[in-house]
Amino acid sequence: MSYLMETDKNYVANTYNRFPIEIVRGCGSKVWDADGKRYIDMGSGIGVTALGLCDEGWQTAVTAQLGQLQHMSNLYYTEPCAKLAKLLCHRTGMKKVFFGNSGAEANECAIKVARKYAAEKKGLEYTTIVTLVNSFHGRTLTTLAATGQDHFHGLFRPLTPGFVHTPANDIEALRRTVAEHKVAGILFECVQGEGGVIPLEPDFVQEMARLAAEQDFLLMVDEVQTGNGRTGQLYAYMHYGITPDVVTTAKGLGGGLPIGACLLGEKAESVLGYGDHGSTYGGNPVCCAGAYYVISHITDALLAQVREKSDYVFSTLSGAPGVKSVSGKGLMIGIETEKPAAEVVKACMAQGVLCLTAKTKVRLLPALNIPMELLKEAVEVIRRTCAE
Ligand SMILES: *Cc1c(COP(=O)(O)O)cnc(C)c1O
Repeated sequence: MSYLMETDKNYVANTYNRFPIEIVRGCGSKVWDADGKRYIDMGSGIGVTALGLCDEGWQTAVTAQLGQLQHMSNLYYTEPCAKLAKLLCHRTGMKKVFFGNSGAEANECAIKVARKYAAEKKGLEYTTIVTLVNSFHGRTLTTLAATGQDHFHGLFRPLTPGFVHTPANDIEALRRTVAEHKVAGILFECVQGEGGVIPLEPDFVQEMARLAAEQDFLLMVDEVQTGNGRTGQLYAYMHYGITPDVVTTAKGLGGGLPIGACLLGEKAESVLGYGDHGSTYGGNPVCCAGAYYVISHITDALLAQVREKSDYVFSTLSGAPGVKSVSGKGLMIGIETEKPAAEVVKACMAQGVLCLTAKTKVRLLPALNIPMELLKEAVEVIRRTCAE
């Protein structure tokens, strides 16, 4: 074990079981370890570096802001925050944005908005947030309560009360759940990420939207992983023809800087007032400058490339030897393999390709702008590894 690995093991909390490599440098979709070995990055920091590593334009935008003003707090107006909020609203039709630092924080905001909306509109007893079985919404005690996977809950109970989980794509169960509770909102991922890269069925998504409109609770989409171009649309809900009341996002938004956003639609835009919510770093100028660059570079042309590259991966790996199934949308892809996923990931890493897992699947979240040659090279390694 290297000195660095030993230091990390001795002093960093034991929450991450790291792979035994030290990444020292990145460029686009390539990274290098301390021994000078090159890897193709098919995980992009878990869907964070949407435009790849150290994209030149992004770096220029971020460093220019860094040289001008790195932080001022929300006591004052700063330009990057307002500019980014306007851009996000223009690109989505949402009305207002609350900025935080992470996906969990964006979801916390959504949950507070739903509870306050329901308390004012329907009564104080309308507190329940419906989420889906197999969902993932974050690691804070409230977003853990929202997460519909028991193994994350561990010994951390009691979690925040007021959450119920209903199975994805089961319309009858959804109607029953909504009928049995005093619902404030429903929160879901259009493609369940950590749950195994599983897209929701359109009928089910439309039924959630119908129930939310009929019973006046908030329709809230967790786009922390699916957002910012990942699925081949700017936000994944755009595949489903729905208009959410709340959209949360993070991961790819900052292109590598910590920023989360909670976008509020017409029904939700005025729910929060002065003092109702806040975050010291929220709307930080440097993070907002990075995110502005990312969102303004997710153009229709880039989204078309995401869909094209997605088609390539799906058609190459579907039905390939050792591959049981391929799921997902855009460049958010899950591969069910005959061999254990962890074994495939390890073998790919030895051959210079970095992949992720999601439950029992191999998961790919490459940069949206990964060059086609690199994507082909990586997919070929994955295909061969699955077949062996
Ligand atoms: C990663 C993720 C989160 C949590 O985001 P953090 O930035 O780690 O707090 C929440 N929801 C979904 C769908 C995610 O994929």
